[in-house]
Amino acid sequence: MKILKFGGSSVADSEKILNVVKIAKQKMLETKTAIVVVSALSGTTDELINLANTAKSGKDYSVSLNNLKDRHILCLKEISLYNLNSNSNLKDTENIVASLFNDLSQKLNGIKLLKEVSSKTLDTIVSFGEILSSNIITFAFNISKSDNSENTSATFIDARNLIITDQSYGNAKVNFEITEKNINKFFENKFGIYVVTGFIASSEDGETTTLGRGGSDYTASIIGSALNVSEIEIWTDVSGLYTADPSIVKKAFPQNHVSYAEAMELSHFGAKVIYPPTILPALNKDIPIIIKNTYQPEAQGTIISKQINKERKTICGISSIKSISFLRLEGGGMVGIAGISKRLFSALADKKINVILITQASSEHT
Ligand code: ADP
Ligand code: ASP
Ligand code: MG
Repeated sequence: MKILKFGGSSVADSEKILNVVKIAKQKMLETKTAIVVVSALSGTTDELINLANTAKSGKDYSVSLNNLKDRHILCLKEISLYNLNSNSNLKDTENIVASLFNDLSQKLNGIKLLKEVSSKTLDTIVSFGEILSSNIITFAFNISKSDNSENTSATFIDARNLIITDQSYGNAKVNFEITEKNINKFFENKFGIYVVTGFIASSEDGETTTLGRGGSDYTASIIGSALNVSEIEIWTDVSGLYTADPSIVKKAFPQNHVSYAEAMELSHFGAKVIYPPTILPALNKDIPIIIKNTYQPEAQGTIISKQINKERKTICGISSIKSISFLRLEGGGMVGIAGISKRLFSALADKKINVILITQASSEHT
């Protein structure tokens, strides 16, 4: 069994999706089952958030909504040009896409009328991105079914039926006990290709939740670790975890091997090539995570595992975060007073604010 995750940039358009299909089908030469976790078409999640905010402000969003629909339909139609089977399949998927956009349109209308969008509603709105992409990608797998055996046919899977979370909308916490049971039960004796929606999940009472921005990596890790696969493959637009963000630092280079701890630190501090929570399920089961480049599958990529890279003489990498708040608490009234830190951090915790770095003057004045 193989698990592969393809990010938004890897499924941005028809040509890229067909490349994904090629990579995943290649894997079917080595295994009977491939689970392919996919993100929304690149930029779609941001666009859906914009649509919700525009609807909330009461402004007209119809042009943007139509553009998004056209992009998805065009992508589907372009894929269908490679259809080696009959056209009926296209009609089915076209109907699914059209009905998803109808549904989305109604939800946006509701937001417009209420002039309000809760984090719960926003999760439902953004979930359309992954549901749309997964349906289109399932279709892309199935059009070339005739090129060899039956086991390369694909099935669409809505991760909301598998991954169960709490109700922290926007960044829900996974209930691993129930989720692992669901995943194991579902994939027992299953063969073929399964295209799974990344990023989205559901609460115990069936409401749509999401795993946080960039959360499709986490979906792959949750499923891969539940099934105890031998490795979790994250396919993206760069050849691994670099020494720095390659889009900013031209001299950065990919590392062949980093430890879970190093990857965790770099990703928490901004190396967005891997979504930080992804590491933990893999680490707990000692499953390596491999980062590969969709556009250069032959490139080695990066292995993230428990092994420490002993050959590396210098630091592992540099990362940075753009939007961060710096808070300084200062005043004579704090000197020698016990419990000040407790009050400060309790106040932050009450508002669910994470603290990533703490420093205190020895005088306790600041
Ligand atoms: P995907 O759509 O596949 O999930 P992301 O955009 O989330 O891809 O992550 C890939 C991007 O992460 C790269 O294009 C790169 O600009 C950025 N990035 C930031 N830091 C690093 C790093 N240290 N190594 C590799 N990529 C990084
Ligand atoms: N589509 C989601 C996002 O843009 C999840 C992901 O791409 O991993 O955050
Ligand atoms: Mg990502």
